[in-house]
Amino acid sequence: EKMQGATAREEKILVLVRLRPLSEKEVAASEVADWECINDTTILYRNTLREGSTFPTAYTFDKVFRGDCSTRQVYDEGAQQIALSVVNGINSSIFAYGQTSSGKTYTMNGITEFTVAEIFDYIHAHEERAFVVKFSAIEIYNEVVRDLLSTDNTPLRLLDDPERGTIIEKITEETLRDWNHLKELLSICEAQRQIGETALNEKSSRSHQIIKLAIESSAREFLGKGNSTTLAASVNFVDLAGSERAAQALSAGMRLKEGCHINRSLLTLSTVIRKLSKGRNGHINYRDSKLTRILQPALGGNARTAIICTLSPTRSHVEQTRNTLLFACCAK
Ligand code: ADP
Ligand code: MG
Repeated sequence: EKMQGATAREEKILVLVRLRPLSEKEVAASEVADWECINDTTILYRNTLREGSTFPTAYTFDKVFRGDCSTRQVYDEGAQQIALSVVNGINSSIFAYGQTSSGKTYTMNGITEFTVAEIFDYIHAHEERAFVVKFSAIEIYNEVVRDLLSTDNTPLRLLDDPERGTIIEKITEETLRDWNHLKELLSICEAQRQIGETALNEKSSRSHQIIKLAIESSAREFLGKGNSTTLAASVNFVDLAGSERAAQALSAGMRLKEGCHINRSLLTLSTVIRKLSKGRNGHINYRDSKLTRILQPALGGNARTAIICTLSPTRSHVEQTRNTLLFACCAK
């Protein structure tokens, strides 16, 4: 097999949109679904009460997934091509963006598990190379970074390494053995996120979670004889804070300032993504937030990026859904 080196970035950011189905609770409350995917690239707003207004009604993306699509489909037809580039030495990140309860965590958990399963399949099919897969997980809440694999609640510091760029000091890295080991680690992260939190929903809607798989491989015949054939890259699975506050702030034309109760990391990410989608000319302000500092190697340069925008189908959430679609349009 031919190993592909990282080539100059030509691909744009892959923008996927996933509509979730009405929940049982929403059905019981007689909520109406106003959004419909009319083919696999276009989503349509179907509220006839709005007809004749200036409200745009059709939005087109690389791929849109209807409420009855499985996470497996979202993976196979979208996320996989980005996530698996890691085995060829290309950094990548996959984001879930959307309002609280639109399906970010549901989507990202599935995508992470499918990716790990396929990475191990790939490793078993390529015995001529030796692989090491390292797992780490952090949460960013109010611009404070915490290790989700450690019971020590001390904030992690970001340091600037002259060679490696921004690194997270003292972060726990576990060597991943297999898919079952992943499940174990994910449940540790889950428990860690919940410790000491009374208002859990409040926190999960305001915090970002990043799961990182760092993969290194080298040809076995050269092991111990220099590292000229080593490939190293990582893939980040980013479950973002709920977009509701950022969307309000962006639409009100607010500027970031100290003490402002909006999410600095989410706003900076939106700005960075908008600039990346327009090409890489000019300065990109990665250093303005913890999230973008940490993810810089997985965003610019040769990295590949997918954003999965998750949507609630209900009429009552139409303004947030529209904000998410406008963000998704900016990222294309
Ligand atoms: P978020 O992380 O955006 O706040 P969640 O992923 O927690 O939202 O989803 C909210 C609820 O909806 C959860 O109970 C989840 O299981 C359910 N859900 C989300 N997306 C889907 C989907 N595509 N199909 C079925 N249930 C879903
Ligand atoms: Mg969530």
